[in-house]
Amino acid sequence: MTIRRLPETLVNRIAAGEVVERPASIVKELVENSLDAGARRIEVTLRDGGRALVAVVDDGGGMAAEELALAVERHATSKLPDDDLVRITSLGFRGEALPSIGAVGRLTLTSRPPGADAAWSLTVEGGRVGKPAPAAHPTGTRVEVRDLFYATPARLKFLKAPRTETQNALDVVKRLAMARPDVAFTLMDETRAALRLAPVDGAAGRLERLAAILGRDFAENAVAVEAARERLALTGHAGLPTFNRPTAASQYLFVNGRPVRDRLLQGAVRAAYMDFLARDRHPVVALFLDVAPEDVDVNVHPAKAEVRFRDAGLVRGLIVSGLRHALASAGHRASTTVALAALGAFRPGSLPYASRGPSRPNLGLAEEAAAYQAPLAGLGAPSGPAYGAAPASAEPAPAHETYPLGLARAQLHTTYVVAETADGLVIVDQHAAHERLVYERMKAALAAGGVKRQMLLLPEVVELGDGEAERLVARAGELGQLGLGLEAFGTGAVLVREVPALLGETDIKGLVQDLAHELAEVDGAEPLATRLAAVCSTMACHGSVRAGRRLGQAEMNALLRQMEATPNAGQCNHGRPTYVELKLADVERLFGRR
Ligand code: ADP
Ligand code: MG
Repeated sequence: MTIRRLPETLVNRIAAGEVVERPASIVKELVENSLDAGARRIEVTLRDGGRALVAVVDDGGGMAAEELALAVERHATSKLPDDDLVRITSLGFRGEALPSIGAVGRLTLTSRPPGADAAWSLTVEGGRVGKPAPAAHPTGTRVEVRDLFYATPARLKFLKAPRTETQNALDVVKRLAMARPDVAFTLMDETRAALRLAPVDGAAGRLERLAAILGRDFAENAVAVEAARERLALTGHAGLPTFNRPTAASQYLFVNGRPVRDRLLQGAVRAAYMDFLARDRHPVVALFLDVAPEDVDVNVHPAKAEVRFRDAGLVRGLIVSGLRHALASAGHRASTTVALAALGAFRPGSLPYASRGPSRPNLGLAEEAAAYQAPLAGLGAPSGPAYGAAPASAEPAPAHETYPLGLARAQLHTTYVVAETADGLVIVDQHAAHERLVYERMKAALAAGGVKRQMLLLPEVVELGDGEAERLVARAGELGQLGLGLEAFGTGAVLVREVPALLGETDIKGLVQDLAHELAEVDGAEPLATRLAAVCSTMACHGSVRAGRRLGQAEMNALLRQMEATPNAGQCNHGRPTYVELKLADVERLFGRR
């Protein structure tokens, strides 16, 4: 066995394994270098998702010719002037990024410090360092990385599609840009600007920058956070609980201006929102923690994304109380915040279809049973139930059973059905729910061999615009499969003889006109079935439970029972909930009783 020192190139390649995982890590290191160099303007360019080229151009302090050679040497840095790892104030400090990148790709630095009469350039290819040469470049630095991982092909295999790599790089730049609203950022993907952020100064600058990155919505639905304790300060903006997301990906956390992904901080955010959010929903926050440099260790991981706090408990406490305070006492929004916090407890429907709530003790609902034993009466369809044989209607509901979606109590604004459940209340968007039911039942009927048609007692003539009648007639066969029987009626009109039974009382004229418009969008060769969701939406708009139609008690209960028995009835065709549920405990919270 022979122990030997590895050659420098190999050492750098090994280090590169940790520092340069993918194009986004290069972007991160280079943009951090630009920020450390005092740049006010940073432009990133990617080709082929960064695999062919990553270029970062800045207008920062630059490097002189003799510094170029040092910059690509391992463990060479200008950022630890006092050899002090305890007080790190720059983003970089390890002196490994440039040599690591130069070891796995073709790296070219071109730089010119302010006042220098010329720019110099230096190339490192697969670890071989060239000689500095004069070059043309304005004040600042241009760093180019070409043919990433050409020297370590094993890594190439781990790269994702260019689009994905570009997205990752974009995310990195966005995070850094949130921390520095005073700096202009551009990210060019091939020739397209994927991101362009103007510099914004002043106190409002940060929110302005956050809005530019996270969207206006965030700015309008966030509260300012400001809290301090001992040598800690927390600032930033926290989204209202109702402004939530299905993942924690929209939580942007910074420690001394450095974007971090830190479990301690994420846990504190979760704890602060715990009372306001369902477990599977996550708030959107951008929080900036400022800590005395000696109270935090950033030298935990080569990518510098993790940190260790001297007093983790203090940090957690500050975040939890700072966020709660901000959410509770945001000036005149306080009362809406409380209401919204309760609204945050409204759960989007996630009804397991065809399931029933567990049998509960009779809550005095016996007299209501009569109201839904015949839920289909009054639905208006002359020769059959609009909702088909809903299970609830098939046999009398036992008086002691309670329904998951409860018993209808009222209709509000001819749009919402309010129902009382065993332990709370449910509000149904009647139109969204009906649309979903039509779609699901249409799918089921098509799969089972055909949609039941309802013959009209009096066929209806519908006048249409130029070409529209022809378009409909050309699709008559397909429309017939969907339960709509129509034929040509002279020029520019159709005669409707049958409608889908499941629509109930139908506004035929509106339905046919809208379908004609819908068809104008569909390519003649495209089968209608591929547009089933859209066609069903159009149909549902003119069915018996459309928005703006007053429903009777029985109709409302029929709708609830049908929702319980239909798959995916908890969400409409657009992914929005069809109903929300508020538990009594939530109502009590709303009134401060809890
Ligand atoms: P670190 O950032 O940890 O110091 P790097 O390998 O990223 O290590 O960079 C090495 C050195 O090169 C930096 O300390 C800095 O002096 C110089 N440098 C790198 N990029 C730039 C830049 N864009 N402008 C000016 N100097 C730079
Ligand atoms: Mg660096």
